[in-house]
Formats: sequence, structure tokens, C-alpha cells
Amino acid sequence: MAVHGDKSALIVGAGGLGCPVAVALAEAGVGHLVLVDGDRVEPSNLQRQTLFWPADVGRAKVEAARDRLAARAPQLRITAVAERASPARLDAMLGGVDVAIDATDDPGFGFLLNDRALSLGVPAVLGGVVRFEGLVLPVAPGHGGCWRCLFEDEPAPHEVASCGDAGVLGAMAGVVGHLQAASALDLLAGSRHEVGVVTTIDGLRGRVRRVRVPPSEHCPACHGAARASAPPRESASCS
Ligand SMILES: [Zn+2]
Repeated sequence: MAVHGDKSALIVGAGGLGCPVAVALAEAGVGHLVLVDGDRVEPSNLQRQTLFWPADVGRAKVEAARDRLAARAPQLRITAVAERASPARLDAMLGGVDVAIDATDDPGFGFLLNDRALSLGVPAVLGGVVRFEGLVLPVAPGHGGCWRCLFEDEPAPHEVASCGDAGVLGAMAGVVGHLQAASALDLLAGSRHEVGVVTTIDGLRGRVRRVRVPPSEHCPACHGAARASAPPRESASCS
């Protein structure tokens, strides 16, 4: 059995981040991937969403990704969920996995996954990429600051530029996605040394910074009160 053959991972978003995350975890021998995305492959996706070929245009992303991954890693078990990760379904999805990765590039979904994963005791990897910049933050209960410690609250829609509005360099999505996969594998191996350390990357200037996020004494997610908070909006993947 592979090193991680008995492990499972939830990947929410099968776009620019989700494709490299899925490939890296499959190649590392993770036994079961749960892919969640409600979008279909569009021609504009092909330059950075590397699991998809022109013949996949129009197919559900998770189904095209499942077929491509199965050809690369025949031992891999893949569950394809062709829908958006709603707050109502997320707890059930988290209940059956060893790690969860936010590959949606939607800051609002990052708060939801952060809160629910910490509440249920599932380690998670948050992150995002816009234009030439990206960040990655692994979180786990009782180990360092979380996504909500870092950003405090979900931004209003007009306060944040999505990759769809601002654009994203395909190569940067690959870099950030592979870093997310590396964090997920570290968590699956049982390490918690990197939890709460945010890595930011400026791809244009070649700068990488790593900063430890201190746990906030006022953070409801770190103190178990997130369950009572209002659920953020549904996720949208980076397409
Ligand atoms: Zn926190």
C-alpha cells in the first residue's frame, strides 16, 4: 500500500487550483479523493486547468477530472460530486475525510471551510490566487492561528477581487495548488509544525514570505463558537 493509501482528501473546486492539487495527491498515493465542483469545462479554462483537454469542453469538471486521474492512478478511488459545496452538505463531506483543501479561490468559502473543519476536527488547507499573487495556510484545531484569525471576517463582495474579475496567471495557480498539496500531505503525515504559518507568494517579483499567524483570543472558530455563526454564501470555483 502507498504511504497515504488509506488516506482520503476532500478537494473543493476542480479549477486552476484543484487540478494541480488533485494530480499531486493522486501521484503521492492518497487512496481516496472527493472532488466537488458544480461547473462545466469552458474553453477559457484550458490554459490553466491542466486536467482538461479541448474534448472535455461542456463536460462536468469533476467527471472529466475523474476520468483523467483514473488513467494516471488506477489504484485511486475518486468520488465526483458535480455540485457546489453548500453549507448544508459540507459537514457530511468533511465527516469522511482526513484532510480538506479549499481550491475554490473564493475567500467566502474559505471562512466556511475554516470554521466547519475546525469545529469537526478535520485539518484543512486554505488558500487562493489572484493575478500574480497567492497564499496558502494550513489550519488544524489547537495548532496556531486560522483563516479567521488572519482575516477576521468575510470581505464584502466589492472588497475583494476574484480571479474571474482580476484574472490569474495560469502558472501561479499551478504553484499555489502544488503548495496546497504539499501542505495537505504534511497534514496527512501527522505533522502540525506548519499549521498556522501563512505562505504568501509574489510571482511577479519572485518573493516568498512565511509568517506565523498567532491565534486570536477573539476568534470564534478557534474557540468553538463558529457553529452558531451565520453560514457564508455558497462557494464559487475559480473558472
Ligand atoms: Zn482562529
